[in-house]
Amino acid sequence: MDTKNSPPVCNYEGSDYQTSFWDQGGRQYEDRTEAIALKRLLPKSGRLMLELGAGAGRNTSRYAGFDRIVVLDYSRTQLEQAQERLGQSDKYIYVAADVYRLPFIDDLFDGATMIRVLHHMADAPKALRQIKNVMASGGIFILEFANKLNLKAILRYLLGRQKWSPFTLEPVEFVELNFDFHPDAVQNWLKELGFSIERILTLSHFRVGFLKRFVPTGILVFFDSIFQWTGAWWQYTPSVFMKAVRAKQEAGSVKRTLSVLGYFKCPDCGGSALVDKTDYLECSSCKKRWEFKEGIYDFREPIKN
Ligand SMILES: [Zn+2]
Repeated sequence: MDTKNSPPVCNYEGSDYQTSFWDQGGRQYEDRTEAIALKRLLPKSGRLMLELGAGAGRNTSRYAGFDRIVVLDYSRTQLEQAQERLGQSDKYIYVAADVYRLPFIDDLFDGATMIRVLHHMADAPKALRQIKNVMASGGIFILEFANKLNLKAILRYLLGRQKWSPFTLEPVEFVELNFDFHPDAVQNWLKELGFSIERILTLSHFRVGFLKRFVPTGILVFFDSIFQWTGAWWQYTPSVFMKAVRAKQEAGSVKRTLSVLGYFKCPDCGGSALVDKTDYLECSSCKKRWEFKEGIYDFREPIKN
């Protein structure tokens, strides 16, 4: 495998994550509070949205205000599930790719979201830098991350039941390829990349087993939606949403293209001249071939000759 010193990727290939976690896993509360947060943070309309780690497309229809949405995931089988849900049309472009090696030209997207994905990033700053590069100036990036500075972790730490400190800036890997982050660390990374943080919402204030069992979901969702605004002042919940805006560049730096082919660059050599050969795209610079099959562009590994 050609990993090009990329950090390891958490792969949901063949996973029934959508069914087991979301549909039957008692995650209605989390799903509904996310829908509310997205509504609060997303612009009403937009041109081109990049959904990073879209999975089976649970959130995708919430971005319908954008003319077109690039639905990206590392797992092809997750994208197939997203296709079943959303259908094949000009509105949705399905792309299998590694977040560390994004196959897009610079300054392309005026919107991007990454929800429940940073959680699996061994090198978060590297991933965020890739995202910054493909975003247009003034573009809006909505990032969700798992917060290590949550009340449960703080209590466990203070009671001596947990070794790692929730107060320090470094990420904690509590299970292999599952990371929680300090809100200040995430803010620092975004600011270093030239993003300004426009709004912070906190979610899942009531992610507690007995509450979820005994209190009707609608009531929990209602109170969570009110408490989300307190994210502006403090962040002690397991899930945090940030709305970041990419700094404006000098005029003329934004590339606008209508053809889907024009979005892409070769993730291996960076060449932006890809030639459409029906079943694959061929890079004019390094001649690598990237598969296009059943409506999914695959930029993970080039086709072997
Ligand atoms: Zn190339």
